[in-house]
Amino acid sequence: MSRTVSRRILAVWLREVGVDYVMMPAGASSSGTTVGASLSPVSTVAMASPSGAAVETLDGIRGELTDCRRCPLCAGRATVVFGVGNPRARLMFVGEGPGSEEDRLGEPFVGAAGKRLDRWIARIGLRREDVYIANIVKCRPPGNRAPTPDEAKACLPYLSRQIRAIRPEIVCTLGATALNFLLGVEEKITRERGKWRERDGVPVLPTYHPAFILRNAARETEVIEDFDAVASRLRLPPAK
Ligand code: SF4
Repeated sequence: MSRTVSRRILAVWLREVGVDYVMMPAGASSSGTTVGASLSPVSTVAMASPSGAAVETLDGIRGELTDCRRCPLCAGRATVVFGVGNPRARLMFVGEGPGSEEDRLGEPFVGAAGKRLDRWIARIGLRREDVYIANIVKCRPPGNRAPTPDEAKACLPYLSRQIRAIRPEIVCTLGATALNFLLGVEEKITRERGKWRERDGVPVLPTYHPAFILRNAARETEVIEDFDAVASRLRLPPAK
């Protein structure tokens, strides 16, 4: 059994016995910086590499994207919308791609859809800054269309590296595009939402995109079910 796997098992066991924080030794930070001994969330126990060195950092990945021209979407973008949130998030959301406001502001899920997502996150007792939010593609597809398979394929390595750097306990995909491109499937979100999947050992729960719910309010109860399932798996206190 590798030492990395052992760390993951240790992290799970610590949570099982009710330990939320541990004292991390100097130099074991997952943030890419050398630090002195510090109190860290148990999730970070599983983040150090077998050598104890830091894994790839989000800032390192971001630095490569600033002038990315790997796909045609670079031509119409104002900003590369990398992602936002806690680099040690236990819960990560993956959407489709930036819209016009996101492109202008450089942040994913702003505007009405973002506010709805924030509301769902708050319902399980978290804040936007507790989770991490990213998209399948980092540059805005023209006319808010879905990214093409070639565009998604060009950009996915960045998202994979973000997931590896963050090591969330759960990835929640928002909408059919995120589900299908992240998992390499061709499924209908109406059939697949709420069913646990897995990618590279990380549990993945597909749910609806908040923009879809803004147009189909009756389906929001299904999203609430999905968020409750996420909260339960993360052992968050019950929603009030
Ligand atoms: S969408 Fe991704 S791959 Fe395409 S140009 Fe933007 S950052 Fe690069």
